[in-house]
Amino acid sequence: MSLADRIGGLRARIRRACEVAGRDPGSVELLPVSKKQPLSLIREAAALGFTRFGENYVQEGGDKAAASPELTFVLLGPLQRNKAKPALQHFAEIQSLDRPELAERLRHLAEDLHVVRPVWIQVDLWDEATKLGGCAEADLPALIAALGGDARLPLRGFMAIPPPEDEGAFILLAKLRDRLQQDLGQPLRLSMGMSADLEAAIAAGSDQIRIGTAFFGERNN
Ligand SMILES: *Cc1c(COP(=O)(O)O)cnc(C)c1O
Repeated sequence: MSLADRIGGLRARIRRACEVAGRDPGSVELLPVSKKQPLSLIREAAALGFTRFGENYVQEGGDKAAASPELTFVLLGPLQRNKAKPALQHFAEIQSLDRPELAERLRHLAEDLHVVRPVWIQVDLWDEATKLGGCAEADLPALIAALGGDARLPLRGFMAIPPPEDEGAFILLAKLRDRLQQDLGQPLRLSMGMSADLEAAIAAGSDQIRIGTAFFGERNN
């Protein structure tokens, strides 16, 4: 199947899910996840109008970003402290912020580098059920405090990778977002939903779905 055909099918799924949920398809951002996909395929997607891509690894995504200055890359994967600098240099946004030490390190570096990088907090409401990183709900206040409202790292919202087939997960996340949006008095977005579960995520109010295989096809592992 060609990339354009696959994206056409994906768009139809998104439209149907929005119809069922009574939402405007324009209210759901489609973020293609290009990890382990070649630059040639990313460029094909760019020719179809996509300019922002999600990547999981600092090295791989950084290399792609350096080779494609016209495109924007968002970091989705776990971030180690010692990779914080290249992460800020190559990625326009960081969606995997999950602990206060990392927030402090990023603030310090963002000031040195004179950059502004929107961040999303990755939350894990399932007690490491997924082992993919993420901040527990009880630790969120400390993490938000560590960001300190720093204008160089504006908080955009929450990202999560719920356990597969956990029906209530997206609704739980939506409630958490609503609550924190109230508490902090600022709009916060929700990045949830992947190839297998985008319909449930859209029904629960996701603002951004992160799509790898349903967009690019199987990954080369
Ligand atoms: C790989 C990945 C995705 C995309 O997964 P698919 O199931 O291929 O759509 C989305 N978000 C994160 C954080 C990922 O690591």
